[in-house]
Amino acid sequence: AEEALRQSQKMEAVGQLTGGIAHDFNNMLAVVIGSLDLLGRRLGASDARAKRYVDAATDGAQRAATLTQRLLAFSRQQPLTPEVVDANKLVPGMSELLRHSLGAEIRLETVLAAGLWRTHADRNQLESAILNLAVNARDAMPEGGRLTIETQNMHFDERYVAANFGVPHGQYVLIAVSDTGSGMPPDVIAKAFDPFFTTKQVGKGTGLGLSQVYGFVKQSGGHIKIYSELGQGTTIKIYLPRFLGEDAEAELPTAADLPLGD
Ligand code: ADP
Repeated sequence: AEEALRQSQKMEAVGQLTGGIAHDFNNMLAVVIGSLDLLGRRLGASDARAKRYVDAATDGAQRAATLTQRLLAFSRQQPLTPEVVDANKLVPGMSELLRHSLGAEIRLETVLAAGLWRTHADRNQLESAILNLAVNARDAMPEGGRLTIETQNMHFDERYVAANFGVPHGQYVLIAVSDTGSGMPPDVIAKAFDPFFTTKQVGKGTGLGLSQVYGFVKQSGGHIKIYSELGQGTTIKIYLPRFLGEDAEAELPTAADLPLGD
């Protein structure tokens, strides 16, 4: 719990800092991009070499603008608009997008639990969290592999809570994203949720993906956990609270429905 508090305080501080900087940068980059555009038009076809310099500068400035916009989106503590979500419908609804993002070398598998509980979460944010995890998985499987998305009902009962410090008691919808990729060494696991922590090349990774996913899950009242084995692959488990609506009484689970946590 202390670790979670530290993490969220760090996220907040970094968010405020980057938000201010990104906002100013965005405005300055707009001036740069606009001026380059005007310059490019003036040059016309007369000076091909100068035109190439302008194009290169525009390209760089545009990539910088994309990054600052991502930073802005990250720092803005966007209010979540939670709704009742059936992950067993949401995940298949993303398969087109996922296949496109994963490419031909990675096989996509979904394992959907029968009778899955509904959860209460921001649908768009949940989709972008799953996409973030899938893109990380893809990057960990440059030679191809398998991405599995699994849903499950999870009930953390007293026994489980006692054995797993920090996990509160309750009912959750589990969404697990697994890959058969490189895996993560312990020092990377320890820092993976930190904003700006990345092991990827400059320009390839921002280090904001997992911290965004972490922020969303925590804000939604859920949990997130990384299981990884070097050379074997990685599983990231997201637990979102079960939606207990007006009809909750009618569908209270029986003991047989309640698997122990993992
Ligand atoms: P980014 O993807 O921009 O680097 P993230 O916050 O999403 O930022 O991830 C941080 C780091 O965690 C990555 O650079 C990578 O080293 C590691 N990582 C995340 N997901 C995986 C995965 N599925 N397999 C291996 N390493 C991963």
